[in-house]
Amino acid sequence: MVTTHNLGFPRIGAKRELKFALESYWKGESSRDALKGLGAELRQRHWSHQSPLDLTPVGDFAFYDQMLDMSFTLGNLPERVSGFHGDALDNYFRVARGRSVKGLEDHSACCGASDGAGDGATDGVAAGEMTKWFDTNYHYIVPEFTADTKFALDATRLLEQLAEAKRLGVNAKPVIIGPVTYLSLGKAKDDTDKLALLPRLLPVYAELLNQLAAQGVEWVQIDEPILVTELTAEWQDAVKTAYTTLATDKVKLLLATYFGQLQDNLALACQLPVQGLHLDAINARAEVATVVEQLPQDRVLSLGVINGRNIWKTDLNAVLEWLTPVAQSLGNRLWIAPSCSLLHVPVDLNSEQKLDADIRSWLAFAIQKLDELKVLATALNQGSVAVKNELEANQAAITARRTSPRVNNAAVKAAVAAITAGMGQRQSTYAQRASKQATLLKLPAYPTTTIGSFPQTAEIRHARSEFKAGRLDEAGYKVAMQAEIARSVREQEALGLDVLVHGEAERNDMVEYFGEQLDGYAFSQFGWVQSYGSRCVKPPILFGDIARPKAMTVEWSRYAQSLTAKPMKGMLTGPVTILNWSFVRDDQPRSVSCYQLALAIREEVLDLEKAGVRVIQIDEAALREGLPLRKSQWQEYLGWAVESFRITANGAQDETQIHTHMCYSEFNDIIESIAGMDADVITIETSRSDMELLDAFDHFNYPNEIGPGVYDIHSPNIPTQAHIEQLMKKAAERIPAERLWVNPDCGLKTRAWEEVIPALTNMVAAAKALRNAA
Ligand code: GLN
Ligand code: ZN
Repeated sequence: MVTTHNLGFPRIGAKRELKFALESYWKGESSRDALKGLGAELRQRHWSHQSPLDLTPVGDFAFYDQMLDMSFTLGNLPERVSGFHGDALDNYFRVARGRSVKGLEDHSACCGASDGAGDGATDGVAAGEMTKWFDTNYHYIVPEFTADTKFALDATRLLEQLAEAKRLGVNAKPVIIGPVTYLSLGKAKDDTDKLALLPRLLPVYAELLNQLAAQGVEWVQIDEPILVTELTAEWQDAVKTAYTTLATDKVKLLLATYFGQLQDNLALACQLPVQGLHLDAINARAEVATVVEQLPQDRVLSLGVINGRNIWKTDLNAVLEWLTPVAQSLGNRLWIAPSCSLLHVPVDLNSEQKLDADIRSWLAFAIQKLDELKVLATALNQGSVAVKNELEANQAAITARRTSPRVNNAAVKAAVAAITAGMGQRQSTYAQRASKQATLLKLPAYPTTTIGSFPQTAEIRHARSEFKAGRLDEAGYKVAMQAEIARSVREQEALGLDVLVHGEAERNDMVEYFGEQLDGYAFSQFGWVQSYGSRCVKPPILFGDIARPKAMTVEWSRYAQSLTAKPMKGMLTGPVTILNWSFVRDDQPRSVSCYQLALAIREEVLDLEKAGVRVIQIDEAALREGLPLRKSQWQEYLGWAVESFRITANGAQDETQIHTHMCYSEFNDIIESIAGMDADVITIETSRSDMELLDAFDHFNYPNEIGPGVYDIHSPNIPTQAHIEQLMKKAAERIPAERLWVNPDCGLKTRAWEEVIPALTNMVAAAKALRNAA
């Protein structure tokens, strides 16, 4: 008999109940009891969704983040909150909120299909840093370590949830993050070698396992996704030490790996003295046979056969075909599950009321994925006939999707096949282009510009919601947006900026806006996925070959240009960013979808050019986010990602100035690829790094123009002219002044005009002072 289980369930709620409860509690509008009550209600509901499974995860629920929960369980709180007395939950939020994050605020505050509700800073304590959880869009709170870090078990949360589960008759399998992943994802605040902390950490884990055993728990799932990354010999040893130390006969350990292949860690994972191993059989299908061979005969092998990272129905018949012989050879030792926690997919497809019926019939969200798991188990345990109808229905949906004319567009496939190297190549070198552009644009030294968006005012949001609700017609909406565009052009002229933007009033989101106008995209109503804390994103669904029926931005840009003699910068989102912030197809490589997007946006570039737009910015805010977990795979990704950008941008005439923008600040390890994009100008986030990140560009002798951000748009603070000048002087120590631009870190859509005007006034004054001094 095959056993079914789940690694984790989304906790945000099918209608984002947890989000709203958290935000209301933080605003002081509801009580702690109400919040805790909602937590219990969600856990109960989610357990009942999982009740058809043999084993249900417990402890995967977190009010904010599972890593932060683990830090509390291990008694590892940052020094700055340890003296705080009061309610434990409030202390927990104190560590969680008020954050300062690299790469995250960018995503949440200014881009991505975020739900944008305020997660304002709490006073007093600096919050924990957040960073991406492996290659997902989820962000965890980074554990902090110093040489003095001590651990002390506090199993209260886990034991309470366990007791709650038991009362409800749930067959509970507690879930914890393993010691090596925990250490490895944390950050040493001093120069401590994190591995030196392992001997202190393990006794706490051992005691935790004891306490779980004392509750009658049979299995504990211990997550070590770090095993799918490249580990040094020291870290591999740490894994061995950890599990040799924790080996016990009181509870059984299921060591869970996910998000990728084990590769060099495969032998190690198979040898560990644990009772079971979970392998991501979506990403590591190729390793299943070897693991079956190497895993000792008394171990359970759990295979993640349903994709926990996408929203597509599983081809159940295809899975059964390869899985049946495995089940026959493993017998009772085989467990099946989703590939990873379902945290990364929306909750329930049944919430969707407006989704196109065809597309809907191809999808499975968390609850539907568990149904699929059950069908697989029944087929394996009782033979396919027992689920004949389900398998036939599944087959029909899979076939319909594969052959649908909505998915397949022969012209698009032919266009991708016809891509030539020349399409990614500008006509002339950067130096030649730069001189033609200088003649045409006549920009001063230290030219000033902004990154695209201006404040999304209450009027803009109101007009958009009226339009969506059908209370404002298209003509009325257009007039309202034009008024906003005119306002931003007026303001920019008054400020004396050199290259203007239209302000993106008409865009709710930099990916959704394009997705809505491209063939091959669909949008869910409730397809929310937690990004961090109460924040969620609703990635658009890229389901078919991508085509652009008509121009998407030209009209707005042309209108904006008609209002000013200054150059108006066209504003597009690049193919890699659109791809990385979408749910993508599983029936073709990511690279192919990316090339399709590239061709569509390339047409937009050429149309803008035809409309007389001389400067075009193509944002690639999420280029870095797509990097694979293993460095050995970076080149492959960067190869097609950069080529996609080049195809998009490089059909432009020499005279057209191409900009790109990236809002993060780690370029060292990808600088060659960044240079390979060959944009005439790149604007980046730098203000918080004090221009130090320009070193990467300096050392590489980055050849083109750079606009290092001088204004931290995440903060309401107004940068002073002196500060901006000082930052630009530091920049000029690294990059020749004639190749420098002056601009904010990112778009201004989350700021208010009252903040933007004085900040940009200072920015323009700083640029003028620098020119005069030169
Ligand atoms: N053009 C976009 C804006 O200004 C860029 C956003 C981003 O890089 N995240 O809003
Ligand atoms: Zn940005």
